[in-house]
Amino acid sequence: MCYALPFLGDVAIMNNDLILLGHGSGGRLSHQLLDELIIPLLSGTSAAGQNDAALLDGITGRLAFTTDTFVVDPIFFPGGTIGSLAVHGTVNDLAMMGARPLWLSVGLIIEEGFSKESLRVILEDMRGAADGAGVRIVTGDTKVVPRGKGDKLFIATSGIGAVEHDLTIHGANAQPGDVIIINGTIGDHGIAVMAGREGLEVSAEICSDSAPLNGLTAELVASLGADLHVLRDPTRGGVATTIKEIALQSSVTIRLREESLPVKPAVRGVCGILGLDPLFVANEGKLLAFVSSKVADRALATFRAHPLGRDAAIIGTVGAGPAGRVDMETVIGGIRAVEMLSGEQLPRIC
Ligand code: MG
Repeated sequence: MCYALPFLGDVAIMNNDLILLGHGSGGRLSHQLLDELIIPLLSGTSAAGQNDAALLDGITGRLAFTTDTFVVDPIFFPGGTIGSLAVHGTVNDLAMMGARPLWLSVGLIIEEGFSKESLRVILEDMRGAADGAGVRIVTGDTKVVPRGKGDKLFIATSGIGAVEHDLTIHGANAQPGDVIIINGTIGDHGIAVMAGREGLEVSAEICSDSAPLNGLTAELVASLGADLHVLRDPTRGGVATTIKEIALQSSVTIRLREESLPVKPAVRGVCGILGLDPLFVANEGKLLAFVSSKVADRALATFRAHPLGRDAAIIGTVGAGPAGRVDMETVIGGIRAVEMLSGEQLPRIC
């Protein structure tokens, strides 16, 4: 079910509804913004007792640590906001290492004149996404830049997760004989953002897939163990770029089957109009899993038992051919080489 939150930035009229440079000064207005809006909404605690850093405890062993920045335009799009996207993006990068995401930091860069009400809606969306993923936002920072020196709101999130297994799950571990499984339809996020940006009248089927994948990856780790070789989320550059990365990193050949790629008809339609190939369009709730072929059935069953894996499909196989080569069996029976996205197909998509 797609949802759309209201963007109020352009309709705020009262001066006290707007973010001022002083809100990033570190002084009284900064404290007010933190105490009244940011800290209660993001952390659920009061501002009392804030320190220069969060203290984390209770974890031993390997940790995963990642960071990402979000400049998506528009900041409100079908199926999400820059806030939920910033949480899901970082949660998913931790999940792709087989880690259990635990803590996030949030850096907000706000343009002077942004509406406090829009900020509130985005912070609530962030908090909802964090709660949904089972992570806590434990530290953050806020800066305000002069009007025209930013674009409404940019967000940086970093995350720490616990690696509670001794498996080797990484991009260099794809092995000849592996099958490649995706958890659902491709291109949904990029096309939803594009439709939002251009104000296209599109069907309700066009909706970002932004979602936390850590529940699904935990199921895969538990069910497949050492037969799970690679997990990666095909975000910017889409499935094509990610598959090429893995082929290079693992020094293997990959063969994709075009007819197996799940694409929503509405997404395919918009791609056709805009001249885009869904294989190169960004996703924010998709993962590619490379698993031993002997566990392919079990892997598919594990995917399909999870709400975010119902449309899972095997989209390709790994071979021992030339390192880094990716081919696609087309629907009409031909073979074409797949390369990484070159240049910027859709700027500011995440
Ligand atoms: Mg990633």
